[in-house]
Amino acid sequence: MAQIFCIANQKGGVGKTTTTVNLAAGLAKLGHHVLLVDLDPQGNATMGSGINKHTLQKSVYDVLLETAEIPDVVIIPERLREVGAGYAVLGANRNLSGAEVELVREARRERRLQRALSRVAQDYDYVLIDCPPALNMLTLNGLCAAHGVIVPMQCEYFALEGLADLTQTIRKVYASLNRDLRLIGLLRVMFDPHIVLQKQVSERLKEHYGDKVFDTVIPRNVRLAEAPSHGLPGVVYEPSAKGSAAFMEFARELSERGIRT
Ligand code: ATP
Ligand code: MG
Repeated sequence: MAQIFCIANQKGGVGKTTTTVNLAAGLAKLGHHVLLVDLDPQGNATMGSGINKHTLQKSVYDVLLETAEIPDVVIIPERLREVGAGYAVLGANRNLSGAEVELVREARRERRLQRALSRVAQDYDYVLIDCPPALNMLTLNGLCAAHGVIVPMQCEYFALEGLADLTQTIRKVYASLNRDLRLIGLLRVMFDPHIVLQKQVSERLKEHYGDKVFDTVIPRNVRLAEAPSHGLPGVVYEPSAKGSAAFMEFARELSERGIRT
């Protein structure tokens, strides 16, 4: 049975997609079967996995509207499979932004993804859901479907404030919609140890959240930022880069920690 994780943070540009694609490829390299769900109309995780979002025949949009089943929509990028990092992608593009409006009259609209994933949970070890930078209906679908939330964050002053909103949302979803949902952990990303403020925020995080803070820290590393333009996760594009090594370490840490915490 798949362990299902949302990669979420309502703040934009904090590293959600970078985390999702690298974790997917990292877990695949470790021999796990992985499904990546792109739940963002920006389609960055789709493109970052080497799939052209503009030419998708079907996407996660069709799954949410129940006009297609997941096995008929997923794509395993050939270039990733060739190097032993293949994972299945349920892609997204801007069509998805219409889903919220189209589902507005539907009953149990926040459970569409959960229903669809429950039918394929046997086929994967991990499902990773890349959420959009908002606490909207799409993110809610992700949270309803997941066992846990992984929160990538930059160690900046306002990060802690945003975290309070997100943990409150997780608590609400837990209370009313999904009793399986828990905060798995906070992942410090784009970290620069030379910046004093980042070290201070990192310390505050550990004081506040204790072992909910993952041990692995992802450094700021330009190779991770270059990789998407080649349609590859960093861990495939340049495995020896510092950032890639950190994401492999994170894949190991997560597979050991799992949904226990
Ligand atoms: P959005 O909220 O728009 O979906 P996001 O949270 O998914 O954004 P990313 O797209 O992963 O964030 O990252 C934002 C930018 O930062 C991208 O250009 C990405 O390449 C870059 N980036 C992410 N992580 C790192 C890193 N560790 N080092 C350097 N650049 C990074
Ligand atoms: Mg993103």
